Amino acid sequence: MPIKLTLQSTSQESNILGLSRDDLFSLVSDFETQPKRASMRVNQLWSWIYCYGMSSFDNMTNLDKDLRSKLQKVFNISRPAIEKKEVSNDGTIKYLFRLNDQSKIETVFIPEEKRSTLCISSQVGCTLNCSFCHTGTQKLVRNLSSQEIVGQVIAVYDDLGLWEKKRVNSSNSSCFEIITNIVFMGMGEPLLNYEEVKKACSILMDNKGLDFSRRRITLSTAGIVPKIKLAHEEIRCMIAISLHATENKTRDILVPINKKWNLEQLLGSLRDDIKLRNSERVTFEYVMLDGINDTKEDAHRLVRLLQGLPSKINLIPFNNWTGSQYKRSSLDRINAFRDIIIKSRLPSPIRKPRGEDIMAACGQLKSNSVKEEASI
Ligand code: SF4
Repeated sequence: MPIKLTLQSTSQESNILGLSRDDLFSLVSDFETQPKRASMRVNQLWSWIYCYGMSSFDNMTNLDKDLRSKLQKVFNISRPAIEKKEVSNDGTIKYLFRLNDQSKIETVFIPEEKRSTLCISSQVGCTLNCSFCHTGTQKLVRNLSSQEIVGQVIAVYDDLGLWEKKRVNSSNSSCFEIITNIVFMGMGEPLLNYEEVKKACSILMDNKGLDFSRRRITLSTAGIVPKIKLAHEEIRCMIAISLHATENKTRDILVPINKKWNLEQLLGSLRDDIKLRNSERVTFEYVMLDGINDTKEDAHRLVRLLQGLPSKINLIPFNNWTGSQYKRSSLDRINAFRDIIIKSRLPSPIRKPRGEDIMAACGQLKSNSVKEEASI
């Protein structure tokens, strides 16, 4: 949804968080007619918003008072509201955010020893109905705007008090030291909300603000084949594929979008369209489901499927949710599967479940938003 905010066009407050630099520039140009000054104002606003976490114009001391009060009258810098926050025994934090239209989304902060990952949502609900995924039982309500996507990151920084920590070791440009990685693995299929996700990523990667490197942002897709190449070329962050099966008949059930773009089309596109740099690999996510996709034959077939494609396979023990028809594979079975893959020299870490006690683990997210539409 294009955002057009101008002093003339709106009499009520509008949110400038999550606007691109270009959008901000056109807004600022309404009252700073010289392009150089407008550009300087954009840089100042950018720094206050994305390096200092300012949520009000009042304290932006390098903007003159008149300008601050004009901005304050018409615009705001608001974040999604925290409706609920749950902390797991293992330190994982799950946020339920309420958006302006009362929709709800979930975001998960996963602290680890050497990295801390924020798992964010790109849609309210999801249309893709992957049968092992709790979010898939909640049909799509709508796409999130770039403001709502970036807003999740900003709101977590506010809540965890990370702004000051972020600045302590920064020189002239900034970096986040606490949230080291962002993954679009929360609610929704990011490549079905392509433009807003692209805009959000450009804000997250801006080196005068949040400054996440392209290697530290991962888009996880169920396999929207025509958008994978585009995302690789335009957004340039990492891409993970939710694979979960080695035969079309199984994948059709686990990841129904496979009926539209099957394994051959998906892997063919990855081979032809993704230009990997030296040490880069395509990441595949593979949920381990007891008796469904976890046999030794599956593991051998997986190795054959990925032959010649630099790959990393994350094995994810299934995280249960009420009403699910699946069970987690036994550890013995997961280890045997992993051993076959490793023998073929493909890295294959087994993901440690995080936040299970608060239903924050992979595939467990679901908010109670109203089902309104379910079209791709
Ligand atoms: S796994 Fe991802 S794409 Fe599939 S239903 Fe869940 S949120 Fe949607």
